[in-house]
Amino acid sequence: MNRLVIVANRVPNPRERGATAGGLAVALKDALARREALWFGWSGQIAEATAAEPEEVRAGRITYATLDLGREDYRRYYQGFSNGSLWPTLHYRLGLAHFSREDHAGYRGVNAAFAAALVPLLRPDDTIWVHDFHLFPLGAELRRAGCRQRIGFFLHVPFPPGGLFCALPRAEELLADLAAYDVIGVQAEDDAANLRGALASVGQGDAAARVFAFPIGIEAEPFTALAEKALTRRETERFRQSLVERALIIGVDRLDYTKGLPQRFCGYGQLLARFKAHRSKVTYLQVAPVSRGDVAQYRALRRELDEWVGRINGQHAEPDWAPLRYMTRAVARPVLAGFMRMARVGLVTPLRDGMNLVAKEYIAAQDPEDPGVLVLSRFAGAVSQLPGALLVNPLDPDEIAEALDQALTMRPAERRSRWEDCAVSVRRDGARAWCREFLSRLEGANDA
Ligand code: ADP
Repeated sequence: MNRLVIVANRVPNPRERGATAGGLAVALKDALARREALWFGWSGQIAEATAAEPEEVRAGRITYATLDLGREDYRRYYQGFSNGSLWPTLHYRLGLAHFSREDHAGYRGVNAAFAAALVPLLRPDDTIWVHDFHLFPLGAELRRAGCRQRIGFFLHVPFPPGGLFCALPRAEELLADLAAYDVIGVQAEDDAANLRGALASVGQGDAAARVFAFPIGIEAEPFTALAEKALTRRETERFRQSLVERALIIGVDRLDYTKGLPQRFCGYGQLLARFKAHRSKVTYLQVAPVSRGDVAQYRALRRELDEWVGRINGQHAEPDWAPLRYMTRAVARPVLAGFMRMARVGLVTPLRDGMNLVAKEYIAAQDPEDPGVLVLSRFAGAVSQLPGALLVNPLDPDEIAEALDQALTMRPAERRSRWEDCAVSVRRDGARAWCREFLSRLEGANDA
């Protein structure tokens, strides 16, 4: 079998295993186990200047080739254009996006540098799979350097309607760059329709025909096993005892403005204010580890959430009951899986999300005999695969409160049937299937 080349902004550290591996590493695990692979991208380290040659580490059949980013490139390519311009725009938040020519040049420069460092490592029959919005132009750079290999691209985040995307300065260039790819994958049918429309509007109709939706999933079985096993852990038992038989609502997100956390906290406050029967009977645990803490908007969000927590607990707490428990530390995956299993409600209300894997993890973690209820934003990509979830508009705190009340009072038979409706696709559309479908589309693409 030919070699698979994965290109992504971040490359997993081969010395860190299992629980600490990133989501993409988990999703690709199966594909990487079956063939020789090269994983290329940023090392996660910042140096004086971006390295010209990658550092290579071999682990079994996988070679990890990484470049350190120069400080200025990190600021412009990563913090500036990727996180400051593209991330908000792709999540429909044009008002939060900023644009500067310097950041844009940094972004294109790093993509060119990545391509230049990758080309010498490539073999003529490699299959190349480029990941996410940091690397829109990479395929076009490789083509300019003469690469004829199959190159696919997958966008892990949403793609907004073309009119919105094209408000980003130089958006047409990014769309033209996408035309270099043989297959362009997105998470959901809405994203595919938006991207096709955007490509068609800039005269890239051919590329529009190469856009397909491949919804990413999780491997459900190992997660279920993790959740079951967690019940015997000391942390889980201590946590259970601390709840004193109160129903648990759980939220698990990176601390990001796309996740709808202020509206969610407000919705929980509304639950306590409007549905008084739940007072003292429910505990909401929100785990939200700080991410991108060096970006001003993320620091402001953190302050806003601190205020919400103070307000809700201040207003509703009893001497022996804190209604909202909030942690900004990461929690180890096995512990988290156990907390999810214990929770009567999984509260997942992003304002916009490419997929949202937490929603699928919550379903996988449940006890089939006594499952909890998933309350899910209608703007998460996962919606089309989780028909049993209670859907909410994440911008409407009252709707969140009503759904929480419905979930907390739902009879076991309805909980089981709703959970079953979700579990079918969580089991079927796993990470493995996602990988297989993308690669078979890509590897079939140039055979004709
Ligand atoms: P995003 O990629 O935007 O962060 P997803 O929901 O698609 O959102 O994926 C997040 C992944 O990170 C999931 O596997 C989830 O379990 C994990 N994760 C999110 N928040 C935490 C947390 N607080 N502690 C540990 N893992 C987390």
